[in-house]
Amino acid sequence: MTTIAMLDDGGGPGQGPQGDGAETVGLCLVSHSAQVAEGAAAMARQMTGARVRIAAAGGDPDGGLGTDVARIMAAIQAVIGPAGVAILYDLGGAETNAEMAVTLLTDLPGPVRLCPGPLVEGAVLAAVEASGGAPLEAVVAAVQDRAKPPGDEPDGPRQTGIEASTILRHPGGLHARPSVLLVQLAKRYPQARLEVGDGGRFVPAESLSQVLGLRLGQGRRITVRAVGPGARPAVDAVVALVEGLTEAASRRYERVDAPGGETARVAVPGIAIGPLWIDVQPVAMPGALGDVALERRRLDAGLAGARAELEALARDARGEAAAILSVQVTLIDDGALTGPVRQAVAGGEPAAVAWKAACDALIRAQRDAPDAYLRARVADLTDLRDRVLRVMAGGKPAEVPATQPPDGAIVLADDLTPSRFLAFDWRRLGGLALRAGSAASHVAVLARARDVPMAVGLGALRGVASGRQAVLDAALNGAPALILEPTPTQLAGFRARQVEVEARRLAEATRLAEPAATRDGGRITVMVNVDDPDALAGRPPDHCDGIGLARTEFLWHGAAMPSEDAQTDAYRRLLDWAAGRPVTIRTMDLGGDKPVPGLTPAGERNPFLGLRGIRLSLARPDVFGVQVRALARAAAGAPGLQVMLPMVTRPEEVAETRALFDAAVAALHGEGVAAALPRLGIMVEVPAVALTLDRFAVDFLSIGTNDLTQYVMAAARDAVGLEAVYDPLNPAVRRLVREVTSYGARTGLPVSVCGDMGADRDQLRALLEDGVTAISVPLGALAQAKATIAEWP
Ligand code: PEP
Ligand code: MG
Repeated sequence: MTTIAMLDDGGGPGQGPQGDGAETVGLCLVSHSAQVAEGAAAMARQMTGARVRIAAAGGDPDGGLGTDVARIMAAIQAVIGPAGVAILYDLGGAETNAEMAVTLLTDLPGPVRLCPGPLVEGAVLAAVEASGGAPLEAVVAAVQDRAKPPGDEPDGPRQTGIEASTILRHPGGLHARPSVLLVQLAKRYPQARLEVGDGGRFVPAESLSQVLGLRLGQGRRITVRAVGPGARPAVDAVVALVEGLTEAASRRYERVDAPGGETARVAVPGIAIGPLWIDVQPVAMPGALGDVALERRRLDAGLAGARAELEALARDARGEAAAILSVQVTLIDDGALTGPVRQAVAGGEPAAVAWKAACDALIRAQRDAPDAYLRARVADLTDLRDRVLRVMAGGKPAEVPATQPPDGAIVLADDLTPSRFLAFDWRRLGGLALRAGSAASHVAVLARARDVPMAVGLGALRGVASGRQAVLDAALNGAPALILEPTPTQLAGFRARQVEVEARRLAEATRLAEPAATRDGGRITVMVNVDDPDALAGRPPDHCDGIGLARTEFLWHGAAMPSEDAQTDAYRRLLDWAAGRPVTIRTMDLGGDKPVPGLTPAGERNPFLGLRGIRLSLARPDVFGVQVRALARAAAGAPGLQVMLPMVTRPEEVAETRALFDAAVAALHGEGVAAALPRLGIMVEVPAVALTLDRFAVDFLSIGTNDLTQYVMAAARDAVGLEAVYDPLNPAVRRLVREVTSYGARTGLPVSVCGDMGADRDQLRALLEDGVTAISVPLGALAQAKATIAEWP
């Protein structure tokens, strides 16, 4: 993340302010969080245009939380001119480093004042003041003045003037953003002595803090009055602004056709702002089967499978999207399209080739159609063609996106497999919007770990193109929305909310270094879930009690099978990071919604109930044996390493795995290679295990609430439209959780929870209530989990 953001009107660092030709005070915003500093700077600029030079200096050089003296020095130099610079900062450490930066800078061209935040509101107040050409002292006073009682001027008799009033319909009323617009407008009528009020109390319209102090909420009447030259146009302009705000607000935003209305869900909370990028998955053409009967069957299966998918999508669709889907279903049934394909297949042509050729001919014809509506249908035909081809190829999506989306992009797709999700560089991307998908899927788990705002079930969004500016509003409250081409006011609103979210995160992060304890002093073990050792870079291990779940599936996302050495290295990296803390490595949990071509069975009817997790591992000793050897090698000299088996159902699976470890350690010793037997535990994901715990001879238990919920509730975690059924807080799930925690308490067997319930505030409280004393959460949820625990009960 950039940590110094110059938001100016063209002058380079070290040059004086340029806007309007007037000198203005520069602003330097210092925060522990780069995002807070940059967000505050962006918001201040949104409010005041480009007249003020603003630099943000937040975060430490490694991209973590903190401040950096060199960075603050560079920011000051970038914005200071003869009018000086006001340095706004938030937390205490920021002040120390800001002071240090000022001390180290010599020969500055203007005066410097340090000023404690609130950063966001302070930046806006200061920028508004500076944009009017106010001197440094006045800019600083504007920030410090927030507490000043309103109404400097006595509300005595005034000259007869102009007065008008209107109702504030703007959601939220006269809050920060509309107030700033009002103050800026008022500054354009300096002689009119504009005032605004609620009819009883009036304040100068040029004072942001006093306008805010009126606290005029939505639905209240606002009265505007002015005396002196220009009073009439001034009052009219303010009234028009207030009513204009209302109009813009009532338009709210263009929600693209999101027929998923009821299915739309926030999977990972947050707000993303950036260009939309539609993920068109390149289709893998299935190879020829060389047999007419087999090809015919493939064609039938492709058409039937695609039809079923479209019908499922159509069930949740409304309006235009529903119409498009029904056109696609009709095309599948259209003998004019499929007839020639069947003939070609009967004549010996591979089904995929024949189907593609027929569709391409139709697509070419539509592309040249004189009618714009028909031309627009090309995308639907292409979509249908590729859907059938993908089903024919066994549902296997292409592995790697051909091109990477632009920085900050919001990726829009039907759904993603975990491997396709991982093919994108999410450090650069903004968010993920899925037409289908589910908040409990493995893609959601991965997105949560990376703090990627994500919405699912948005339905069959159509008529959108890559490159359009968009906002993905996946804030915690309400259904998510994808907003296209937001207005500047909306954008400012979303940026402000982004900053608020980051500010809350920053506040919670201050507790990260402390051990987690409940209000009544109960110590809770809080570990982290990791799906890629790279994700640990820059994360201090002393913020947690170890790794409670290392998902090793990342090793199988590349093109080749991971070697024993590569695996051993990866496991040692986890152990090195944890520096003696426990590290729980889960053996490969492939299958279900994590298919690996060539390893997991193609075309399973119910993959979540099929050959997945430990079942698949034991069925493939050629692959699992390599992992067992690598784990045994990593365990040598690493007492903190413990191995966990996923999707265990029967005690025999544990016994077989133990035997594999015994054999591997003996073989490695025979080869003169250091190896050790790690502690062996299991995930409690299958209800059968939770109900018969005493049958399992293991060293520890970890409840996988993601899968446990789907198996208890008989609702696939990636099912669309079953969110009410897939409920981790259902009494049946909670009863099983209590079953496990009380078994642990009775027997002394360590029990933790590594499912994503720990990443949700309410669900975490339920876990604590149910006797859980150890959790493992995605890295991004660590601070929130500790804060939630600290406030419980
Ligand atoms: C779970 O099922 O709760 C779990 C932690 O495993 P995963 O989400 O990887 O299936
Ligand atoms: Mg699981």
